[in-house]
Amino acid sequence: MTATTTRSIDWKRFSDAIAGIEIIRDATQVAKLSKDYYTYSPLLVEQLSDKVGDLVVRPTSEAEVLKVAKACVQQRIPLTVRGAGTGNYGQCIPLQGGVILDLTKMQAVKWIQPGIACVEPGVKLAALDKQARETGWEIRMAPSTYRTATIGGFIGGGSGGIGSITYGQLRDRGNLLAVRVVTMEDEPRVIELRGDDVQKVNHAYGTNGIITELEIPLAPAYPWAELIVVFDDFMTTATFGQALGDADGIIKKLVTICADPIPGYFAALRSAIPPGSHVALVMVAEQSLEPFKAMVKEWSGSICYEKSAQAAKKGTMLLEYTWNHTTLHARTVDPNLTYLQTLFPYDPELKLLEHMYQHFGDELMMHLEFIRVAGCVLPAALQLVRYSTPDRLHEIIRYHEEKGAFIANPHTYILEDGGRKTVDPVQLAFKEAMDPYGLLNPGKMKAWEMRDRS
Ligand SMILES: Cc1cc2nc3c(=O)[nH]c(=O)nc-3n(C[C@H](O)[C@H](O)[C@H](O)COP(=O)(O)OP(=O)(O)OC[C@H]3O[C@@H](n4cnc5c(N)ncnc54)[C@H](O)[C@@H]3O)c2cc1C
Repeated sequence: MTATTTRSIDWKRFSDAIAGIEIIRDATQVAKLSKDYYTYSPLLVEQLSDKVGDLVVRPTSEAEVLKVAKACVQQRIPLTVRGAGTGNYGQCIPLQGGVILDLTKMQAVKWIQPGIACVEPGVKLAALDKQARETGWEIRMAPSTYRTATIGGFIGGGSGGIGSITYGQLRDRGNLLAVRVVTMEDEPRVIELRGDDVQKVNHAYGTNGIITELEIPLAPAYPWAELIVVFDDFMTTATFGQALGDADGIIKKLVTICADPIPGYFAALRSAIPPGSHVALVMVAEQSLEPFKAMVKEWSGSICYEKSAQAAKKGTMLLEYTWNHTTLHARTVDPNLTYLQTLFPYDPELKLLEHMYQHFGDELMMHLEFIRVAGCVLPAALQLVRYSTPDRLHEIIRYHEEKGAFIANPHTYILEDGGRKTVDPVQLAFKEAMDPYGLLNPGKMKAWEMRDRS
């Protein structure tokens, strides 16, 4: 286990400085809270399994976060922020030990106005959604970890999800309105970022500021019906997904496509889905069901599962079979499976997607999530991969890139090596100013690590 053993830290001095704030020292608990869901990647398992923090601190307010920040800066202790720890790329694994700052106790919804909510970072997405819906609004997008993930972690380490078919991704201007951030300067302070300035900390893996409050835009709430449509062949299913995504008059929140044999991994849905079928899992506003069903007919699909919005409140949640929950269910049956994250270029005929489907055959199982990117609806694939070796995985990634598909690599914990591919000078400059000792989630921002070496 690698905790902060190389430097001598006076932990008594640290705990005195934050007296009154919950500290977890129990080794089993600390080890548990040093993990996330990087286990989907065999490459990350190799690199991260032995990483562990020294202790966990659980503040309940921004004032307490300021105290912890100051105590860490005084002794140059690394600090890694954590929400629910459901990230898939080891985003909140403490690479250099130190303090894990668990923000799950900061879960107040401060206010909800028409179209905007102001929340603390530890609020769970489902809890916020529930409160917003009571006022006729709902969250614009959520990961499939909706029930457990926090809003702070979604902004810090997520990308998009259920709702991205309409509202795009978290990085899109307008999907995060404002944040309050605690700095790691000699005298930590709170600063507020609004407008485009929010991009300084948006999807920065908690490397350049501790988010203590967020203003999140909301969407008008709809009653979402949940349906599964089956088709005989994969490309008809995929082009149905594209056409549904492009159907501007049909209000939808989710368009997921899974090629056979993926539906076979969905234990709770297996009795509804005929064996050997390719499926579309969708959430459609009840007001749009009639035109939606006309479209299913036109595409010769058949509906094998339908729940009204009222019925969908109980039992199986369809969204928990989509996005990376698809991978979760598949890995429960076959732990040797891993996955890719691919964005295909805009093409209503899906030619490149079809090529990849044919080319890789059984080695890659196609799972698509249709999302809106700069006004166009595109298939983002989270293909299931029958894993063999690291070299083969890299070869598959290279092949996609050479053919023009974009890979957001889920097999790296480095911020820039995932989806971004380039250094973000704005986020680096913000880190230099707000975290001059490089204590926040060290080892994750390549630009900072390279700067240290030069
Ligand atoms: C089954 C499964 C399905 C998933 N589906 C999706 C999906 O559909 N879409 C998607 O985008 N992701 C998905 N994920 C990844 C993850 O669940 C989401 O991104 C989730 O929103 C992360 O929230 P969290 O509270 O667990 O964050 P954590 O994992 O705790 O943290 C994520 C990152 O944010 C940083 N962070 C956390 N809180 C703060 C803060 N207050 N200030 C600054 N930085 C902070 C952490 O340091 C870390 O780098 C999935 C994961 C699993 C296991």
